[in-house]
Amino acid sequence: MLFNNIQRERIRDLETPFYYYDLGLLNETLEQAKHAADKRGFHVHYALKANFNDRLLSVIQSKGFGADCVSGNEVQKAIDLGFSADKITFAGVGKSDKEIILSLQHGIFAFNVESIQEMEVINELASKLGVIAKVSLRINPNIDANTHHYITTGLDENKFGVPTSELESAASVIRQAKNVELIGLHFHVGSQITDMNVFKSLCVKVNEWKNWFEERGTQIKVLNVGGGLGVDYQHPDDNPIPDFQTYFEIFDRFLERAPHQEVHFELGRALVAQSGSLITKVLYTKSGVKKHFLVVDAGMTELMRPALYQAYHKIERVDTDQEPGVQYDVVGPICESSDCFGKEVPLPQSERGDLIAIRTAGAYGEVMASHYNLRDEVRYLYSDALNLSPSL
Ligand SMILES: *Cc1c(COP(=O)(O)O)cnc(C)c1O
Repeated sequence: MLFNNIQRERIRDLETPFYYYDLGLLNETLEQAKHAADKRGFHVHYALKANFNDRLLSVIQSKGFGADCVSGNEVQKAIDLGFSADKITFAGVGKSDKEIILSLQHGIFAFNVESIQEMEVINELASKLGVIAKVSLRINPNIDANTHHYITTGLDENKFGVPTSELESAASVIRQAKNVELIGLHFHVGSQITDMNVFKSLCVKVNEWKNWFEERGTQIKVLNVGGGLGVDYQHPDDNPIPDFQTYFEIFDRFLERAPHQEVHFELGRALVAQSGSLITKVLYTKSGVKKHFLVVDAGMTELMRPALYQAYHKIERVDTDQEPGVQYDVVGPICESSDCFGKEVPLPQSERGDLIAIRTAGAYGEVMASHYNLRDEVRYLYSDALNLSPSL
């Protein structure tokens, strides 16, 4: 249950929809992840793109995580919120000149470079600024992450990284580039990965390519294995915190590394997803010939994952302990048929004004919100406001 009786009273009259962030759970999740990583000497950069809400970012920064950014604005945001430049990486297939220059001026830890041409551009811009750019080469290892095809990134057909067939020429470009220093190799094979064998296969590939570079006389300081650890969308209450121990243990066991080699991770979803829920109110109930509909006041403009990749989110009533008795299609107000949060969702008999939570919405939720249909800015509520303020 998301809210106790007192909290239920307090949220009853709040304007909906809003994101509810459980800061207690966020703290606990971050601490477990940090502990499991520190124990093995691993470094974790939080992938800002999963959620760049200021409050959440400040908590993540305060726990000692680095920042993994995919745009110049994310780099700037990380700096503004106190992440030190030497803990910031910048990834992405389409970095603009402006974004590269900004990152060079800040002196970020590393660029994760995704093509030979990008390497040449970074070299040129760094030379103009009179600095040396530290880069990791993103290798596309051709691994199937066994996840939805929209969030698989490590296959030959994906746009990400340098294909292994081009590594020979990439290596020679790097050798000639005077203003680029290769510090590491980077891999990121997909998101919401729940099959731990995927990470084992990744380790095998990382070992292989690390050896390939070392045999050619290039020393690799950083092995960056990306992110992608999945969360339990089906059972958020049973598994509120991902199994970080098992995850990191796989890399500890299967990655071959020398004492001077650092292992870096870029976790997004696993650190924030379970801490967020989208709270929405039933506007209308509709019963068709074959269906019962709940029309709620949140839509794909607040949470796009179901519309974008048919993602599953657990949907529940937050204002009653009644058992489910009806199967509802829970739909939003947006003028698109894909604006549907779930089909045939078992819920208690519901009416106009009832409150619903769409769970596990802390990652790739608020950040993907849009103004389509000229919708309001997204609202949010932090758990501490709910616990401390008697007059909410
Ligand atoms: C999106 C992304 C991540 C984070 O992925 P999660 O599945 O949220 O952990 C990490 N690294 C790169 C390069 C990414 O694009």
